Amino acid sequence: MNEPSRLELLRFARRVVVQQAATSLAQLDRWIADEERRAAERRQGEQRRPPDPEWLIQYGLNKMNVDAVHIGDCWAAKKSGRCKPVTRQQAVDALRRQVAPCVHCHPEAQLA
Ligand SMILES: [Zn+2]
Repeated sequence: MNEPSRLELLRFARRVVVQQAATSLAQLDRWIADEERRAAERRQGEQRRPPDPEWLIQYGLNKMNVDAVHIGDCWAAKKSGRCKPVTRQQAVDALRRQVAPCVHCHPEAQLA
C-alpha cells in the first residue's frame, strides 16, 4: 500500500474544510431562519396583545377586601399590582357596594 502523497493529503484536507464550512453555513442559516421566525412571532404577538381591560378591581393586601375600582389604563392601578380585570357590570356592582372609586381615574364618572 502506497503512502498518500502530500498532494493527496492536501486535497483531502481541502475536502474536509469544504465539508465543515458547508455544515457551519447550514447551521448558521438555520439559526438565522429561527431568529427571523421568532422576530416575526414577536411582532404578531404584539399586534394581537389584548387591549387593557376596561375596568379593574383593586384588592386589599389580604385579597379579601376590595379596595378600589379603576378604569383599565389607570396608572395608580398598575402601580398597586393588586388589580384584576372585571366587566363593566362588575365594576358598577362594586361601586354600588360602596367600594371606593379611584381618586385618580374616577371610574364613577364613566360608569354613572
Ligand atoms: Zn385608578
